[in-house]
Amino acid sequence: MFDEITPPRKSPDSTRRVTVNSESELTTQRELNRSESIHYHQILDTLLSSAPYMEASAGREWDQISSEDEYQPVFSRPLSHFDRDRHLAYLEMMYQMLPHHYQKQEINRITLAHFAISGLQLLGALDRVDKEAVSNWVLSLQAHPRNEADLNSGMALVTKKFESDCLELDAIVCGELYGFHGSRSSQFPPDDNGVLTHNGSHLASTFCALAILKAVGYSFANIDRVSILTSMKNLQQPDGSFMPIHCGAEMDLRFVYCAAAICHMLEDWSGMDREKAKDYILNCQSYDGGFGLIPGSESHGKLKQVFIFLYSQYSIHFDYISNGICLSGTGGGTYCAVASLRLMGFIEDDVLSKSVSSSVINLPLLLNWCLQRQEDDGGFQGRANKPSDTCYAFWIGAVLRILGGYKFIDTEALRGFLLTCQSQYGGFSKYPGELPDLYHSYYGYTAFSLLEEPGLNPLCPELGMTDFSTWGI
Ligand SMILES: [Zn+2]
Repeated sequence: MFDEITPPRKSPDSTRRVTVNSESELTTQRELNRSESIHYHQILDTLLSSAPYMEASAGREWDQISSEDEYQPVFSRPLSHFDRDRHLAYLEMMYQMLPHHYQKQEINRITLAHFAISGLQLLGALDRVDKEAVSNWVLSLQAHPRNEADLNSGMALVTKKFESDCLELDAIVCGELYGFHGSRSSQFPPDDNGVLTHNGSHLASTFCALAILKAVGYSFANIDRVSILTSMKNLQQPDGSFMPIHCGAEMDLRFVYCAAAICHMLEDWSGMDREKAKDYILNCQSYDGGFGLIPGSESHGKLKQVFIFLYSQYSIHFDYISNGICLSGTGGGTYCAVASLRLMGFIEDDVLSKSVSSSVINLPLLLNWCLQRQEDDGGFQGRANKPSDTCYAFWIGAVLRILGGYKFIDTEALRGFLLTCQSQYGGFSKYPGELPDLYHSYYGYTAFSLLEEPGLNPLCPELGMTDFSTWGI
């Protein structure tokens, strides 16, 4: 999956319009959607047909899909148990070859690789991975300064004012981040003078790169940590938040979390001011106990998301209110806040059984908010009035595990909901009955690890990956 994506299948339909303006075009749209689904099944079937359990049923299911009848999804039948073998086949397929549906996520390739490789790690199957090839590929994506002057060029922050008809925004332009790129396509080669003209390294990519290197057992002693940490500190803003990339983008809890996780993995906190970060996080706790991605007092104008040179990689992860004030907590924001505070050492593990009153955050309100996210179907929602979604079984579940409140949820009901999102081809979907995707699959595995499912490694909830301390790493 490293530097190629499976090209889309060429078909006579590919030149036809897909915009739906009439009944005939609607029919065309349906045909294309069906064609896409069939192609997806062809990939899955090819890779899974070697598994004995697929051989008996594959032909019948293909007959159903190939018929001229109204298309009926055949991947919606829930399995009654966590089917580790199918998940291994699914992840191995993603590791070998990304389906063309992921082309739009090209810039997030390292994030997708993290889900596939760390997923195999969580399932105890890293023997399927070429660890040396993986670590070489990841290391090749790091941006390096030419010299010490480059590295220190961002020590002085410059404030620029951008104005247009629809935008008035102060942006602080920092020195460059010497972290990791998301993919080869965002890694421009140096010019003829050896100057790196477009450094696109990103905090989220750097987090994913280190997570992969950790998963494959690469020695962090060999990583250029000085460049990462020195340049990362330049991205921290006066209010404690972080810009994810030197040329500007959203500044919110997601990147405070990435910075904290990077420092934790590198075992060096010189890359951030923890006190400032803590103050920023505490300002994000909402009246309802959850955390928004930005402080509620943030002005409306600052939240305009037009100042995006590179689209934030973690935007696919959270329900992010991008054009208004975050007044209520969100699952993603709450996870980033609590996990960051835990990584930085501001809250203890299992804090609910210890010192609730002296905690830096309002724990009773937070616990209440988290427990109210479990819905009647057993799943977790990201915020009020949203449907249950596989990934929030991790985002909310991990918060509860960190706090010591996981014992208060209905684990059997949660398990039942997650099984309705488990695909018979392996992987998990966002909602019951949909096609699986790498993101929800990975967080399905982390959720089952929190549920202590046999066959899964224990999880480090604040890092969202295998608990390497149990491995002696
Ligand atoms: Zn989700």
